[in-house]
Amino acid sequence: MQLYWTKINKIIDETSEVKTFLLDLPEGFTWEEGAHTHMGLKGFNAGEKPNKGLVRHMSISTLPSEKTVGITTRIKDQCSEFKAILKNMSVGDEVALFKIHSNVPLKRENKNLYLLSSGVGIATFRPIVKTYLENQDNVKSVHALNIDSSNDFLFTDIFTSDTEKNFTTQYVDSRAAYYAEAEKLAEDSEGIFYVIGSDEFIMQTIELLNKHDVKREQIVLDKRERFMEKFFSPSVTV
Ligand SMILES: Cc1cc2nc3c(=O)[nH]c(=O)nc-3n(C[C@H](O)[C@H](O)[C@H](O)COP(=O)(O)OP(=O)(O)OC[C@H]3O[C@@H](n4cnc5c(N)ncnc54)[C@H](O)[C@@H]3O)c2cc1C
Repeated sequence: MQLYWTKINKIIDETSEVKTFLLDLPEGFTWEEGAHTHMGLKGFNAGEKPNKGLVRHMSISTLPSEKTVGITTRIKDQCSEFKAILKNMSVGDEVALFKIHSNVPLKRENKNLYLLSSGVGIATFRPIVKTYLENQDNVKSVHALNIDSSNDFLFTDIFTSDTEKNFTTQYVDSRAAYYAEAEKLAEDSEGIFYVIGSDEFIMQTIELLNKHDVKREQIVLDKRERFMEKFFSPSVTV
């Protein structure tokens, strides 16, 4: 397993609770839009076994063409050890990146794509949308719907409707508004629905999509195949 130690180059306060850490791009580190990686903090590999408390999965919120690895995360006042350490890190401090994986690339299948996210889940979609806006080949349209109850929406510079490029976006700040909008989108029986957020958000969205006869093959999650059953098993109740 290749481990890339790299420095924090810039820290952006996206909102009062959400930060983007822009990391120096390590040589040889590359990924495709929608990919995630593991981020380890100093000491995570000091013992015989990795200290999982110092490692988290994180989506990469930038594209390689931006020449930086972006990690966007919410850090609440009451937070885990991992987030508490991260919160106090500064430009020049080092973090480790390892194991890049991609489950949610932009699908160029001549379909309408719906990007449904909750909170900071929209970070996974940022590079996907950037890729689409640069080249719309074989994608009918993209519609992004994000719910953030903080009402402090993320990446509004990129998530701006562009009718010429068949790109539309919507932010909502309540569950009721989210489900009302998602119901309308689910009427597209041919669409592809990407869903990113907490497990509870994913399960409830899948339940809604299923009611509209959206099939499992049309739903894209940032999960490895072996974890998919949990979300698609008919016995799952939410
Ligand atoms: C494929 C994939 C991609 C992901 N991409 C991202 C991403 O881009 N950005 C992102 O932010 N996350 C992402 N995640 C989720 C991420 O890995 C973490 O699970 C998530 O950020 C929560 O981490 P945490 O350390 O805050 O939470 P955990 O330790 O899992 O705790 C969950 C919550 O419990 C509370 N909590 C935990 N410890 C304490 C404590 N000591 N005191 C008080 N409250 C506490 C906090 O409110 C915390 O948010 C991704 C996960 C996967 C699987």
